[in-house]
Amino acid sequence: MQLGLLGSYSFSYSVYLASSSSSTLNKVSANMAALSALSLSPYNFLCKPIPRIRRSISCSIDTPTTLGARESKVPRRRTGRTEGPRKSMEDSVQRKMEQFYEGSNGPPLRVLPIGGLGEIGMNCMLVGNYDRYILIDAGVMFPDYDELGVQKITPDTTFIKRWSHKIEAVVITHGHEDHIGALPWVIPALDSNTPIYASSFTMELIRKRLKENGIFVPSRLKTFKTRRKFMAGPFEIEPIRVTHSIPDCCGLVLRCADGTILHTGDWKIDESPLDGKVFDREALEELSKEGVTLMMSDSTNVLSSGRTTSESVVKDALMRHVSAAKGRVITTQFASNIHRLGSVKAAADLTGRKLVFVGMSLRTYLDAAWKDGKAPIDPSTLVKVEDIDAYAPKDLLIVTTGSQAEPRAALNLASYGGSHSLKLTNEDVILYSAKVIPGNESRVMKMLNRISEIGSTIVMGRNEGLHTSGHGYRGELEEVLKLVKPQHFLPIHGELLFLKEHELLGRSTGIRHSTVIKNGEMLGVSHLRNRRVLSNGFISLGKENLQLMYSDGDKAFGTSTELCIDERLRIASDGIIVISMEILRPQHTDGQSGYSLKGKIRITTRCLWLDKGKLLDALHNAAHAALSSCPVNCPLAHMEKTVSEVLRKVVRKYSSKRPEVIAVAMENPAAVLSDELNARLSGNSHVGFGMPALRKMVDRHPKRSQLNRTQAEGDGRQQNLQVDGIEVEELPEETTTTSNSDYGERLSLDSEDSDEFGKSFVAPASPINSLVKGNNVLIPQEEQQMSELEEDGTEISDDDSSESSSSQPKPSKGVRQNKWRPEEVKKLIKMRGELHSKFQIVKGRMALWKEISTHLANEGFNRSPSQCKSRWSSLLQKYEESKSGNSQKSWPYFEEMNKIFSDSDSEAMATK
Ligand SMILES: [Zn+2]
Ligand SMILES: [Zn+2]
Repeated sequence: MQLGLLGSYSFSYSVYLASSSSSTLNKVSANMAALSALSLSPYNFLCKPIPRIRRSISCSIDTPTTLGARESKVPRRRTGRTEGPRKSMEDSVQRKMEQFYEGSNGPPLRVLPIGGLGEIGMNCMLVGNYDRYILIDAGVMFPDYDELGVQKITPDTTFIKRWSHKIEAVVITHGHEDHIGALPWVIPALDSNTPIYASSFTMELIRKRLKENGIFVPSRLKTFKTRRKFMAGPFEIEPIRVTHSIPDCCGLVLRCADGTILHTGDWKIDESPLDGKVFDREALEELSKEGVTLMMSDSTNVLSSGRTTSESVVKDALMRHVSAAKGRVITTQFASNIHRLGSVKAAADLTGRKLVFVGMSLRTYLDAAWKDGKAPIDPSTLVKVEDIDAYAPKDLLIVTTGSQAEPRAALNLASYGGSHSLKLTNEDVILYSAKVIPGNESRVMKMLNRISEIGSTIVMGRNEGLHTSGHGYRGELEEVLKLVKPQHFLPIHGELLFLKEHELLGRSTGIRHSTVIKNGEMLGVSHLRNRRVLSNGFISLGKENLQLMYSDGDKAFGTSTELCIDERLRIASDGIIVISMEILRPQHTDGQSGYSLKGKIRITTRCLWLDKGKLLDALHNAAHAALSSCPVNCPLAHMEKTVSEVLRKVVRKYSSKRPEVIAVAMENPAAVLSDELNARLSGNSHVGFGMPALRKMVDRHPKRSQLNRTQAEGDGRQQNLQVDGIEVEELPEETTTTSNSDYGERLSLDSEDSDEFGKSFVAPASPINSLVKGNNVLIPQEEQQMSELEEDGTEISDDDSSESSSSQPKPSKGVRQNKWRPEEVKKLIKMRGELHSKFQIVKGRMALWKEISTHLANEGFNRSPSQCKSRWSSLLQKYEESKSGNSQKSWPYFEEMNKIFSDSDSEAMATK
């Protein structure tokens, strides 16, 4: 049954292969190589994160080639049918393969990588026997664009959760972040009693991590030892010793009745490891005799020819350089490389220097090693960071984090002069005992430049021997492939380019069945008991569209949509506009032109080039125009949408950016009216409103020598509000309002010239300006007062005498009568000041203004509540101007005003 099924799959592949020429295959792999070369390049804003997001490629074009059928001995049947039946047969196979194999049919051994295949990092793989799985490793990947707030990327925990009932154990190969970093998210996705297996040092690190995340359940953690077999899920597991750049690393041998799998973990062959625990060649030799169905091996350094050097060579180099140094020595390295720390300690001992650690993670790893009994340094013997200055430079050897110029790491901070504990000098020698990880080159170079600027001596580079990789070079990879001689070979732990290259290396050693798969592609493997078996043993069992999960570093965790990754990029590169619109709807909505929406508009931008304010002007004008184009009865949401779209177009036309626009519209007619008054008077209005109308109204009622603004404060939401006794709903057509047709023309935005562009949105001047400036007519007193304030930014004195000396035509009696005298103003300020705290909390403020008005009446000054309020508004405005400018002394009320606000500030402070 099983064989029959396998046969049918082989058949379908051979059908496909018959039409595949080797040149197509080459082309496919060249494309793949180009693709992964791209993903190697440092992140660039132009390159949105999409390339990182796995795309589903349903089992078609390149599947058979990746299945290694090139070497297949299956007779290739050329059917000659390229259309119709053959096509539909492929479709049906494809449909079937889009579903994962479940149940006891099909190949017995199954591999489903969740992460780590196609990238460096995020290692996480499901390995199963039929439907029973274990999860090997749960690592994170560090984003290239962490400056946008994303700190870690994890494998698809939603998928792991969906499959949690099939996952019987987690087995960890070693303690690097790309193998354990995702545990805080993966463990909660699993069943609550799924055990986690790891070696003792690794388990120390895991324990700490789980405690930090509040998910530490001691009974689930199982520590293993090398060459000691244990059962996990369907497999008997035997960890075997490999050498790497962190203690206690293992390869895993998984055995079950259906075959044997070797997962190497991360490894190199260190011939003389510092802890004496050598790479276990014997175990691999024995395994080879036993027969390995599938080997999965680390591809990180497949492009580096030759072999890696030993940690003991690095130790010698460190000793040499530290001995040669006259002053202070600072080393930087990966904190997890405990053996390297041991070498630094040896160099310190040799030269009589005291050791200091600067950087949190150095202590984290050392403490874990100490607890596990593997630390080369007693943590209590380290000199405390704060005592650095108590030692002569030549007596110190400082170890720092930050070899990758991580933003908050010690050496990077020191390069900016931003570290309290470590100040670099031109006498320091810095030993760079690490490699620059691809993708970090630019920021590391900048850090090194800063250090060079300080004058410290930097020792780095291959010739200095200060670093060796923890991942085997090509020579080592080849040796192990030849040693194990697996039936099937699957390269893991690498960019796609590396995987492909490693696959070729495997073939060159005589392995007949090798393939490359990517995250989410499920592979079935059968042990070949008979070399003449028809199957090649590898079968694709479908694929899953896995997604990346992102962590902000704290609580935020989710998909790219949930963490707004695209939005972060868009805002960072294209900016954001926030526009608030307080809306006044005209009361007569009979469809006549001129009855249009008005708004008090505020616009704030971020990350946007404003061209010295020109763009902002254009945005204001466009927003007013867009608003007036909306139907007067339209919902607020419609206005928000319309205005957003227009603003986006404006910016796109202006500077080719596509900013985010957040528009918020709310009904608030009072705000619109007062804004319009202010704007008219200061000559800054974008869209004319109501003043000519007011003018006419006032003219029609010449007896209104003293107009009352009866509804100025309140909640601002009253529709039929009155301005100076005139109902707004009576306002006739506004001549200066931008019409819809104008608006349409303006939106065409044909002008390329930015100045012209800006002008195209400016509404024509309103006759109100001349009305305001001419004093020979009666205008509402508030306007008059404001005009006094606005001209040239300096106040015309309230003193009658100055007014009489004015060359302006004499104002009418009505205005003169309403002029505030200095003593009146002072009284107003005093009373308003006394009620200041009440103004902060009371909602119905008009009552307070009434109180002030009554007090003033008692003092012999006849002022209505709204007059008081209005005068206060202008005083406030003047006060703000004086405070920010240099006219504090020249403005007579500054001290009084300032007292009110400084008092209230100090009260606010006291209540905190
Ligand atoms: Zn790794
Ligand atoms: Zn590793």
